[in-house]
Amino acid sequence: MDSTPVTGTTSPSCLVCGSAKSSLRFVQRGYPVYRCADCGLEFVSPIPGPAELAEYYDRGYSVPLERYAAAGARNAARIADVERWCPERGRLLEIGASYGHSLAAARERGWEVAGVELSPTASAHAREQLGLSVFNCELQEAPLPTGSFDAVIMWHVLEHVRDPRDQVRRISELLKPGGFFGLRVPNVTSFGARVAGQWWPWMCPPAHLWFFSATTLPRLLDACGFEILEVRTLRGDGNNVYQYALMAAGNWLNELRLSLRPRPNRPADAPAAAAASTSPGTAAPAMTQAAAPSRRLPEAAPRPSGLLEKWLHLLERAQPVTNALARGTSSLIEPLERRGWGDELLVYARKKSSGRVAA
Ligand SMILES: [Zn+2]
Repeated sequence: MDSTPVTGTTSPSCLVCGSAKSSLRFVQRGYPVYRCADCGLEFVSPIPGPAELAEYYDRGYSVPLERYAAAGARNAARIADVERWCPERGRLLEIGASYGHSLAAARERGWEVAGVELSPTASAHAREQLGLSVFNCELQEAPLPTGSFDAVIMWHVLEHVRDPRDQVRRISELLKPGGFFGLRVPNVTSFGARVAGQWWPWMCPPAHLWFFSATTLPRLLDACGFEILEVRTLRGDGNNVYQYALMAAGNWLNELRLSLRPRPNRPADAPAAAAASTSPGTAAPAMTQAAAPSRRLPEAAPRPSGLLEKWLHLLERAQPVTNALARGTSSLIEPLERRGWGDELLVYARKKSSGRVAA
């Protein structure tokens, strides 16, 4: 599954370190995913155009309101965690404010809040139901005064944007000197990502275009004039390690089967696409994808084999068992997550007071 050499094409250069030494890892749902040999950044290349992404989000990508409304305690806990670094509670901006629940939690805790959200439905809810100031546009187009925020938070957004460096620079402009920046993204060097490979639920282009690690994300922030305060990995809302181990076993068995009985025109991404669409246990953790994009592989993606369908069914049935096992062995798993194996990467940074932004 790993590192199919690319022949006859130039490697795309790395957003984080500029290296041209990247290799194709696999093609996922029709989108080539590369890994930088120098810093380890993984990324989709070429990046789909704005029109293609807009069509994808309009058609197949939705975040159910109930899911967010139910996460009240979690939202407040995340804001409280931010307050360890900024106890003064001044002006806070959330990028990707969704339905506004996180901002409402911050407002309740004494912050003056504003948000930016691309979804018309979610941003209207934030404004009309929660009375929040949430702009329905790209960050770059939002009429926000520069140097006016004490804190910016961005939970599971940076992996979606076409140009993360551009976003981070804009955030730096919006912050006061010394302002706080908190990010959460999927961790591509998590245990789950390592063992599940293409089956990792967060490996889901074109929703996700950039796959950061505890090395690459701090490096990007540093290059944009930030000082790193804290880097942690957490479980996130992803699967447990045992479920991932089962997925990995399925992946290996499938590879073995295919190598013993090679088929012509095998789509490289059939197992992951099938897993994402048929098993609730493997749905992308932070959001729901109603439909995987099929534009790039219109007729090429066949139905999963009977064997694969049985395996996916087994995975689904195994979920409650592995969840119980994970709860029972949390004392073993949590130290691993603290050591960087968790599915969710958290980075806290501070805008350097006099820092020059690297070109
Ligand atoms: Zn790199």
